[in-house]
Amino acid sequence: MATTYEFKTEARQLLDLMIHSVYSHKEIFLRELISNASDAIDKLRFNSLTNEKLRGMTDDLHIRITADSKNRTLTIADNGIGMSHDEIIDYIGTIAKSGTGEFAALLKKASEKKEAAPELIGQFGVGFYSSFMVADKVELVSRKADEEKAWKWISSGEGSYVMEEADREMQGTSVILHLKPEDSENEDSQDFTQEWVLRQVIKKYSDFVGYPIKMQVERTQIERDETGKPKEGAKEETIVEDEVLNSMKAIWLRPEKEVSEDEYREFYKHISHDWNSPLKWINFKAEGTSNEFNSLLFIPEKPGLELFMPNSKRGINLYVKRVFIMSDCEELIPDYLRFVKGVVDSENLSLNISREILQHDRLIQTIRKSITRKVLDTLKKMLNEDREKYIDFWKHFGSVIKEGLFKEPANSEKLFECCLFQSTASSSDWYTLGEYVERMKPEQDKIYYLTGEAREAIENSPHLEAFRDKGYEVLLMTDPVDEVWVQYSSECKQKKIKSAARGNLELGSEEERKKTGETLKQKEQEWKSLLELIQNKLDKHIKAVKLSGRMSSSAVCLVSEEGEMTPHLESLLRASGKDVPQVKRTLELNPGHPLLGKMHEIFIRDQNNPKISEYAELLYGQALLAEGGQLPDPSGFNRKVADLMANAL
Ligand code: ADP
Repeated sequence: MATTYEFKTEARQLLDLMIHSVYSHKEIFLRELISNASDAIDKLRFNSLTNEKLRGMTDDLHIRITADSKNRTLTIADNGIGMSHDEIIDYIGTIAKSGTGEFAALLKKASEKKEAAPELIGQFGVGFYSSFMVADKVELVSRKADEEKAWKWISSGEGSYVMEEADREMQGTSVILHLKPEDSENEDSQDFTQEWVLRQVIKKYSDFVGYPIKMQVERTQIERDETGKPKEGAKEETIVEDEVLNSMKAIWLRPEKEVSEDEYREFYKHISHDWNSPLKWINFKAEGTSNEFNSLLFIPEKPGLELFMPNSKRGINLYVKRVFIMSDCEELIPDYLRFVKGVVDSENLSLNISREILQHDRLIQTIRKSITRKVLDTLKKMLNEDREKYIDFWKHFGSVIKEGLFKEPANSEKLFECCLFQSTASSSDWYTLGEYVERMKPEQDKIYYLTGEAREAIENSPHLEAFRDKGYEVLLMTDPVDEVWVQYSSECKQKKIKSAARGNLELGSEEERKKTGETLKQKEQEWKSLLELIQNKLDKHIKAVKLSGRMSSSAVCLVSEEGEMTPHLESLLRASGKDVPQVKRTLELNPGHPLLGKMHEIFIRDQNNPKISEYAELLYGQALLAEGGQLPDPSGFNRKVADLMANAL
């Protein structure tokens, strides 16, 4: 006897949307049905562990696709757990999914505005109901694994459905779709009774489903001789045989021992389109929580062109229970690890997760966090175990990783453990900040760095003289990104990270600093008028003139204020087309330098001696040259130097 039931309001709205759908990826209905089937088999397998009656049913678990192009039907059948009469009503006749309320509200809004809402489907997904995008009538026949009776559910998606008793030999569910006529006006329209269409869709979305997806395929055959030529008089025969359409290779689920290195490499190449082999892969599982996932991540050996291109594809392929959801899921990995490729396969995410809701999804955020930690741990391990290999890697990818220091400064301690820098400690070695800190002098309380265009240009900078005298190491940073991160991550291992070319310099013990401070103050008092004259002369170039203990052999240098742009950053920004105003800096003079002593002597004798002004300009020019900067008036500077030389001869 057949009974008719009315759909609940929300289900009705949803179905209405499906029937009139203009959603462009209609093919995903197959992904949904296959994944329901795979879940049902999962359940049967799981229940058979505790239910003896089910044990004999798990020998030949599979999904079968049957296409009938004459009658335009497509059947997706499984021999999984099946549904009882009440379960069909509960699960298929009602929708009781998380987010349904929200979805219904959005739907209502869309229909009030008379908007078709195809993007809503993509956002929420609708599982079984997506069948109505391609079918005008759907039948579902199901027999629960430990029941004798089978039930049939029939609906055209309009308001009601019919339930009646049915026959089904085995446990499981068959969904029979009566496909809508092909839409000849729509180029994207696909005929889902065609073997090649089905093959393609299954390969694309369900290749890694863990059970065979079988289909009967027709093949022609002819008898051949030993040489492979058709035998004389032999006739072509058509045979029909089962073919498994999915590779079932969820390589990330297989124990690492069982997967060959070649298989990992091939898989990497397949997903990354990189011709090179990966440097490293990470097989990583998170188990025993409400957010279980498997992942297989790859670190490339060489960067692809896209690494520094904005809007290029980045991210990781997302699977939910072995069903492909999307490639290049950016939300799964922070931008500063965008070179990492791979797969995440979640057990708990909804199959219908869409790009729009990804960003706010709590599970995704947690996965992203653990992946980030895992990748950074792996990098750290590689650094500890194979430093040479890591240095090579760092040279390619270091500038991307360092972006993390300003994009995610909260994570900087962890990031610093993987970051390498060069320093005044050697001419070519690379060090971590931890190693730097270990070498710090007992009274040294800060990590010092100097930025610039090239190592050669900054290595001999006057800014480093006091550090050299004290035996302090200074990091030499020449990567443009260094100028940026130092503004955000200003501490490591409880030590402030400070520029050697910015702000006040206080080196040595407290006593030493006090003493230097007092001497300089006294000297500054004595030289007050000379300093004022220099300031007046150079006013358009500099902010202030002062005496400092920063140098030992040089006479002058230019110093930025704390937090101000360095000249290197200024020139980088200008090179990138930005209009940057010139930042005036402080001219620091070394009172111990004979040149300045002489200048002061001349000044005492004759405050109006024109040499003082000329020398002031030469000093400014020297300061710029010493840091690899550009002179404002190179030929003027040259002339002054030549005059000076002629006079000295
Ligand atoms: P979802 O799969 O997202 O839960 P669906 O609308 O696709 O939503 O399915 C609703 C429910 O119907 C499923 O959770 C499952 O309990 C049941 N169901 C669907 N298809 C099958 C099937 N092939 N075998 C057994 N149960 C199924």
